[in-house]
Amino acid sequence: MQFINKIVSSYSSSPSIEYDAIVIGAGHNGLTCACYLAKSGLTVLVLEDYHSIGGMTLTEEITLPGFWSDVHAYGYQLANLSPVPFELDLKRYGFELIYPEISISHIFPNAHGCVSFYKSLDKTLKSIQKISDKDARSWNKMFDEYQSNRDLIISALNSPPADPIEHDKGISSNDKLTKSKIVLAAGDEFRRRNQSMRSWCDEHFESDEIKAMFGTFAAFVGLSPEDAGGGDLCYSFAAIIQDGGNNVVKGGFVNLPLALAGYLKSKGGKIMTSSCAKRIVLKNSKAVAVELTNGKIIGARRLIASSTDPFTLIFKLIGEEHVDSDISVGIKRLEWGDSIFGIYLALNGPLKYKTGQEIVSNSAQVHISPPGLEYFSKIFYECRSGILPSNPLPIMSNDSMMDPTRIVRSLSGPSSGKHSTNSQLIKFLILSVPYQLKKSNDSENGTLEWGRVKDRYADQIVEMISHDYVPNLKDVILKKVAFSPIDYEKKPINSIKGTLSCGSVLPYQSGWMRPIAQLGSYKIPSIPNVYLCGSGSHPGPGVSMAPGRNAAQVILNDLGFDFKKIVSA
Ligand SMILES: Cc1cc2nc3c(=O)[nH]c(=O)nc-3n(C[C@H](O)[C@H](O)[C@H](O)COP(=O)(O)OP(=O)(O)OC[C@H]3O[C@@H](n4cnc5c(N)ncnc54)[C@H](O)[C@@H]3O)c2cc1C
Repeated sequence: MQFINKIVSSYSSSPSIEYDAIVIGAGHNGLTCACYLAKSGLTVLVLEDYHSIGGMTLTEEITLPGFWSDVHAYGYQLANLSPVPFELDLKRYGFELIYPEISISHIFPNAHGCVSFYKSLDKTLKSIQKISDKDARSWNKMFDEYQSNRDLIISALNSPPADPIEHDKGISSNDKLTKSKIVLAAGDEFRRRNQSMRSWCDEHFESDEIKAMFGTFAAFVGLSPEDAGGGDLCYSFAAIIQDGGNNVVKGGFVNLPLALAGYLKSKGGKIMTSSCAKRIVLKNSKAVAVELTNGKIIGARRLIASSTDPFTLIFKLIGEEHVDSDISVGIKRLEWGDSIFGIYLALNGPLKYKTGQEIVSNSAQVHISPPGLEYFSKIFYECRSGILPSNPLPIMSNDSMMDPTRIVRSLSGPSSGKHSTNSQLIKFLILSVPYQLKKSNDSENGTLEWGRVKDRYADQIVEMISHDYVPNLKDVILKKVAFSPIDYEKKPINSIKGTLSCGSVLPYQSGWMRPIAQLGSYKIPSIPNVYLCGSGSHPGPGVSMAPGRNAAQVILNDLGFDFKKIVSA
């Protein structure tokens, strides 16, 4: 820290290149923020550490040449509620969606059936009804409620979070009746937001299959059956997928950031890849430049916005000594959540499921577990004890079945050849594994163990899936590549400890408290021209474009622009 202080105070002359705004990180949120700033007429530069743009929306040839895997995000879900693709006319820049009819199927072991989430509510209800009429009625009622609140939900996602104090000011102390109604509604709301997955599932469903299907929506973002806030996530995630579908970006998720980059460039914005920001240069408590790890200093006339995780922003880019001590305390105690493990598979033939062949093979995503939440409890118990879950919960993305363009069938150049028309590309994500492995025999540092165990663990998972769910899986594998949390944390560097959310989605790390209450408005109190614009901020992880757009609203408002006018211009 002493060293950083020295260079900060020694910075005096202006750097030769200057932009109005510098955005750190070219994930989809950094790019979204940059696009709106550029739309308002500011000169904008985006800096990206990785050699290409996209962050957690990369599409790469992980297994074999010609097989294009979505490295991270695959399902276009939350983003269905975003105005960004329309406001920025992203179609013009090559962005196109595929709309699968079957969003998700949850398959149970040994031909014990499946239950599916369709784009059509009627079909979803029929699928649930086959297992429990009561559970189908329950989902119908809850989805009705979602629909009557839909506009409010969309507005809450795509606006900076409401300030809790301002919210209370609206209640007149004389209006006792109204106040008691508000208190009642607030109590219900508080309960719903804090309920665990188990509490919520038990309240609404009777069947173990349906509990597992809905429970997976919270397990998706790393919440165990007992974690606070799991119920709300099950409800919101399921309702958002029921509403907009589990869509797929044609050609790969990276086509979203590429379209954003296309828009940005059309407004004169610039992107520099392989450019890691080392620190934000401050002068009189104002940010004036960014220094890269290669020593280059680039000036920022008006502001800097960072889509890095909040820890990196406060401790590495700004420096603890430049923020209030309660901010550094808050950021130090941020909870990151469990780590992820991935298996990318190129296949030479279609999968044969033990159950629901026609439906499951045409589902955008396939969830794989026995019925009931006890299975989930064991996974999280093992994971949080530092043990590899013996029977994890794999989430399969059906990449090439949904989007055949993911496999380039005829290759030219050094990897020339032809892939069979039967070839398939899939991915299994295991959403709760420990970052540090205990029970390590030959290493003091558990994290070093991942390199040794990851292929064996991938084999164990493939064996389990083949045995109980997809008997021909092992026979059709052309190439298998496993990613441990250690691999994910390098690609991109925002994936802290191989986690996906830049801070767990817990009630006390959500809304105006995301990442922490002091930074919940995308601003840093002691440095007025540095902003947060990534998924460490409201509304959090998932491809939603909302943190980037919300941050742009705050920034442009601070600069005296009318955001609504800019959007409609
Ligand atoms: C395996 C996995 C699967 C997922 N699946 C889904 C899904 O199906 N659907 C969904 O909606 N969401 C999914 N998510 C979550 C979603 O991908 C992320 O929440 C979202 O993409 C984060 O976007 P972001 O722009 O906020 O951050 P990022 O995409 O992480 O972008 C931040 C960028 O900042 C760069 N950066 C960091 N530090 C520096 C620095 N010092 N200098 C320069 N650049 C820097 C990073 O390299 C990165 O490119 C998944 C995530 C993972 C990991």
